[in-house]
Amino acid sequence: MPEFCDVALPVPLDMAFTYRVPADAAPVVGGRVLVPFRQRRMTGVVVALHDRQPSVTTRNIISVLDAVPVLDEQLLRLGRWISDYYLAPLGEVFRTMLPLGAEFKRSIGYRMTEEGQMALHLAGMAGSSLRSRRTPDEQAAEFRALDYLAARECDSGSAGMVGEKTLRSATRSSRAILDAMVRKKWIAREDMSDVQDAARTVKIAELKSAEGKLNDNQRRLIDTLAASGGRAPLATLHSLDVPRTTLSTLVRRGLVEIVDEPAEFKVSRTRPRTSPFEFDFNSQQRSALARLRDGVEVRKFSGMLLHGVTGSGKTAVYLAGMRAVLEAGRSAILLVPEIGLTPAVAADLHQIFGDAVAILHSALSHKERAEQWHRIRRGEARMVVGTRSAVFAPVVDLALIIVDEEHDASYKQEETPRYHARDVSVMRAKMANAVVVLGSATPSLESYFNAKKNKYALVELPDRVEQRPLPEVEIVDMRQEFQETGQEQVVSRRLAAEIKERIARKEQGMVLLNRRGYSPVVLCRSCGKKLECTNCAIALTHHKREHKMVCHYCGYTAAVPKACVHCGSEYVYFLGTGSEKLEELLHGMFPQARIARLDRDTVRGHEDFERTLNSLNEGELDLVVGTQMIAKGHDIHGVTLVGVVGADVALGLPDFRAAERTFQLLTQVAGRAGRGESPGIVILQTYFQDHYAVQYAAHHDFVGFYEKELRFRSWMHYPPYSALTNVLIRSDKLDEALRWSGMLGQWFDQTQHEGVRVLGPAAAPILKLKRDYRYQFVLKSPSREKLNGTLRAMLAYTTRQKIPRTQVIVDMDALWLM
Ligand SMILES: [Zn+2]
Ligand SMILES: [Zn+2]
Repeated sequence: MPEFCDVALPVPLDMAFTYRVPADAAPVVGGRVLVPFRQRRMTGVVVALHDRQPSVTTRNIISVLDAVPVLDEQLLRLGRWISDYYLAPLGEVFRTMLPLGAEFKRSIGYRMTEEGQMALHLAGMAGSSLRSRRTPDEQAAEFRALDYLAARECDSGSAGMVGEKTLRSATRSSRAILDAMVRKKWIAREDMSDVQDAARTVKIAELKSAEGKLNDNQRRLIDTLAASGGRAPLATLHSLDVPRTTLSTLVRRGLVEIVDEPAEFKVSRTRPRTSPFEFDFNSQQRSALARLRDGVEVRKFSGMLLHGVTGSGKTAVYLAGMRAVLEAGRSAILLVPEIGLTPAVAADLHQIFGDAVAILHSALSHKERAEQWHRIRRGEARMVVGTRSAVFAPVVDLALIIVDEEHDASYKQEETPRYHARDVSVMRAKMANAVVVLGSATPSLESYFNAKKNKYALVELPDRVEQRPLPEVEIVDMRQEFQETGQEQVVSRRLAAEIKERIARKEQGMVLLNRRGYSPVVLCRSCGKKLECTNCAIALTHHKREHKMVCHYCGYTAAVPKACVHCGSEYVYFLGTGSEKLEELLHGMFPQARIARLDRDTVRGHEDFERTLNSLNEGELDLVVGTQMIAKGHDIHGVTLVGVVGADVALGLPDFRAAERTFQLLTQVAGRAGRGESPGIVILQTYFQDHYAVQYAAHHDFVGFYEKELRFRSWMHYPPYSALTNVLIRSDKLDEALRWSGMLGQWFDQTQHEGVRVLGPAAAPILKLKRDYRYQFVLKSPSREKLNGTLRAMLAYTTRQKIPRTQVIVDMDALWLM
């Protein structure tokens, strides 16, 4: 066994750490080890085994978690690529790739020091000088803790270490008291974190016999077991309202036996597949599927952009493609945006793929996530469906990755590593000689550009299924509406008339207003100041029902002001309209209508979202008001009207993707109309009726929009013509943020990087966010290599200047420049 191993740890440092391998340990490359790091213990991934004696002293690894690699060669390679491309520390990348945190239990322990013994000894003497300024209560707690630790010191085996939870509850001492004792060096704090019991088993009750006399409780347990095929997890029996002793009695009498099974052993035999899922395809869907299957068969990398209008049946193509992969005994991954994984979607997937599917959604606990991960790695689940991080699923023999709604911003992770799951999918497919399919009604400019340059095959689904027409879009100019009515309107006369008609015809409507809350701005008429968040340079939004002011960026809340907080004036005005106010307005206009709202305030989980959509589908609702949440790919057959209120707000934002985002949102929400028997209509209210994003969306003209937007991007050297990185400098101290960004600005000036444009430093559009002041540089280059080299040199400079790595955020291919 080599004497040393290099370990990638989840810390913000661009290096691996060398540890000594004890004689009895056998770490493997790609497997995890538990190691001491500074004062802590952590798990990391072994990246190399060697006999090169490092120049610094090394510590031993504590334990080996995996006898075989958890990251195979391909995933290790993918991790290295992400680390390199996004300039993220490798250990942090691996942590993101491995959802196995549940297998490591964090805990802190304390032991008494010699100083502590001395203090305890001195306190035993009368009139101790230790009675200082501290209150008697705190002092009493300190001595209770010392007494307790002294008693434990005599215990054999524990080495005097006591876990924090035990110590605090046994001695009624707070964390602050323990902190104070650590500062006085009376006690020492140590990391006791360790690996959880690796053998995951569950206890299963097995029915052996049902003979003999049984009381009611015993009868219930036996019946429950019989009903579930003679065996059930103990947890299921414990959830019945029966005393636990009943089961023990049955076990004693030999009627029931308890056995240990591996946790993944399937006790509940999933219901048999009813009928094979049948797809009824039109010729375009058939040819898209044929291309996909051909690509999979040749076992070579290929990319495909599936550009299908809303309602063209892309999902059916994905599912049929995945089924073909499963039949060939290989694996596929389907990525969906966050809101796409509703319970109904999960039920469909189970029906099509049975036990072969693993669904990775945000509601899974850490433990469940780890269990799914192991199922996938053992090849039990070959069809993986999930959000962003499912791209790292350790599937066996990957054949196909599908990225549904590939333009969706939720695929970009907004914390380290700031990877884009679509781009990682393409890279992973390349490494695995697999097929990657990117699908959307509104592809990102980057993907469409790549397809046009023949990097991917472009496959179009230009028609809706069953020859349904795309909805007709009518633009209402809100400036004209104002001139004609003499008032600022939220709901135009045209939209109001259409809503009225839907209610009369018992059809359904949706109204989009992409801003939650009641009023987005509270303004003082005397001093002209807005009410802002204390942590962010952001106006607080009034939430009427909850009766408070809320920051949508950090969650800070404040009371609803009666007077201006700046000048005391009573002339405070609540301006603008959010979805909560729109709902109230519509209730007022149509008292008989049944109206629901879908936004982050009313939707806490996938169930809430689905319940409302179902009611709409069942005709139990007339109108749904909501934010962009309602625009995402859902099929509601009764919706024949979509109203858009103020969806063009985003056009005013200082972000080069504003037009693209608006076009996508308008097209997607319009796509919700007329998916059933009756054709749909869209009423699009706007103050920017001449803006090309609005015009092209109204004409369902993706290519027109794409060409116009591409010209603008080319003039401005924006993606896809240039690679773009946002470098954000942040600090909770304004002078520090200014000084650091000034230093970096000078460094960029002095070093002159050929072929890389550097804009900045400039105050970020949101100058203060979550207490941090923010300054930014935007770097653009047609050469990714040069851009990457410049950023690396910059990070090396910040390290030399001792600017903490966590305060310099490098966001490669940034989606937001805010
Ligand atoms: Zn004021
Ligand atoms: Zn805030």
